Amino acid sequence: MQIGNNKVAVITYTLTDNSGTVIDQATAQEPFAFIHGIGNIIPGLERALEGKTAGDTLTVAVEPADGYGERDDALTQVLAKAMFEGVDEITPGMQFHAQTPNGMSIVTVTAVEEDQVTIDGNHPLAGVALNFNVSVLEVRDATEDEIEHGHIHGEGCDH
Ligand code: ZN
Repeated sequence: MQIGNNKVAVITYTLTDNSGTVIDQATAQEPFAFIHGIGNIIPGLERALEGKTAGDTLTVAVEPADGYGERDDALTQVLAKAMFEGVDEITPGMQFHAQTPNGMSIVTVTAVEEDQVTIDGNHPLAGVALNFNVSVLEVRDATEDEIEHGHIHGEGCDH
């Protein structure tokens, strides 16, 4: 069976940046499963996996535009520390959910100076070229429930 629309693909992968640093991985012990064709994964990887079958291995280079997007400096903002009411201590690297014009997104604190906090609404991997080493373990039909819900149902799914 080939990976295509409304198929569930189970894969292992190693994701590295262009300097070879491992950013993320899914191993055979904890493989990653997704429904193909509905944007569960980044476009560049989804496209490369189309038509692949169990047993296939591939390396995929994904440019930022087909990954998590280009960095947008307009998403960086300097805020007054007073806006972070209820947070004991603000340190670089902390992440918050924030309402933005594009919906809910995660912002990362990049700098803290006296009364000012700099936040960055870019995805942490925005602007990063991504290299995937992928092995396809299994391809199956998605169930009607899975297609309706837009996510896979594995063991331990509670609905
Ligand atoms: Zn569900």
